[in-house]
Amino acid sequence: MSTILVRYGEIALKGRNRGQFEQQLQRNLKGALQNLDATIIRHRGRFSVHCPDAALQKVTMRLGRIFGLVSFSPVYETVHDIEAIKAAAAAIVKELPSGNKTFKIMARRSNKDYPYNSPELNQILGAHLLQCYPDLTVQLDDPSSILEVEIGYQNTYLYLERIPGPGGLPVGSSGRALLLLSGGIDSPVAGWLAMKRGLSFEAVHFHSFPLTSKRSQEKVVDLCRKLMLYGHNIPLHEVSVTKIQEALRKNCPADLSVILLRRMMLRLAEKLCELRKLKVLVTGENLGQVASQTLDSIDVISKATRMLILRPLISFDKLEITAIAEKIDTYETSILPYEDCCTIFVPASPVTKPKLAVIERFEQNLDLDLLLEEALETLETQIIK
Ligand code: ATP
Ligand code: MG
Repeated sequence: MSTILVRYGEIALKGRNRGQFEQQLQRNLKGALQNLDATIIRHRGRFSVHCPDAALQKVTMRLGRIFGLVSFSPVYETVHDIEAIKAAAAAIVKELPSGNKTFKIMARRSNKDYPYNSPELNQILGAHLLQCYPDLTVQLDDPSSILEVEIGYQNTYLYLERIPGPGGLPVGSSGRALLLLSGGIDSPVAGWLAMKRGLSFEAVHFHSFPLTSKRSQEKVVDLCRKLMLYGHNIPLHEVSVTKIQEALRKNCPADLSVILLRRMMLRLAEKLCELRKLKVLVTGENLGQVASQTLDSIDVISKATRMLILRPLISFDKLEITAIAEKIDTYETSILPYEDCCTIFVPASPVTKPKLAVIERFEQNLDLDLLLEEALETLETQIIK
């Protein structure tokens, strides 16, 4: 069996509901590690995960994606007996690659009844290692290896590394959102960042089948599959806006079509939120990127709903967004060249300074309620697992 110590950001918990945070994190750990035969034990201020040795690599890979984790360490576990600890330290150091010639011991005891204090432990274990391996030297500043030793209440843990976790808050601890997921680069990244701050989400994708291909819808399914690895199963709602686009084309000037379509998307999203009891919208909007994302455009678009809209990418540069997309492995999928409902009928010169009054005048010529109702009748939902 392997043991991994899992740490979360205690400092970030001040003033928060700590119990809920820990429970959510424990549920998320359980979900992420299911079918790996792992047990999760909650201790004061951290967790330990126990799994068969063969599953260790998969477990550490999955832990690296769980929001809320600050770091984790595969550990060697032994009893309190000082001879056992010495033997364990020697066994661990023996496995080090041959270049690791300098080391230091960092011992700690949560159990203050233990007969040796931390400096004494450092001393005893350091001396033992020097005796076992004469080519090693102790170096307190920037050694090639640090062996941490923790005397707990029941056991002693020894480990060489703290693998950084992704930080953030446990997914689900901040509430439930609806992610507007296009097939582009930005919205999957926005969804990932929302999860990072503890939001869980359902996703909605607006398509124009048969004007857009089924492939572009499959692409969105693939994006959900990638995002799911960081959180949970994702309910994906797909809604056709084909009829809405036809109505806009007949009744409104082409240079306003993007703004008008976006406003319809928000209205549909709001209705879905009512249906699914979701509190907030998340989009991949980014200030200044395209015509529909000038300050005026974002303002006019968002006035179609009274819902709170979060835009995690608002201040990011494209390069920063792309770097995250690559890190979370959505980039390659996002750049597949399938058409999106927004890329068909793109006007030659969309307005960049839309006026709300003008937009509303054109909307008065449309039967908005009927269009929304007809669009919602096309709703198809699948759970991406
Ligand atoms: P993305 O890369 O996410 O497509 P973008 O930079 O192309 O973003 P826009 O096309 O202006 O920006 O879209 C802005 C946001 O509106 C998207 O990030 C997404 O949240 C939402 N959105 C756009 N098109 C769709 C769609 N077909 N279905 C669902 N949401 C969409
Ligand atoms: Mg787009």
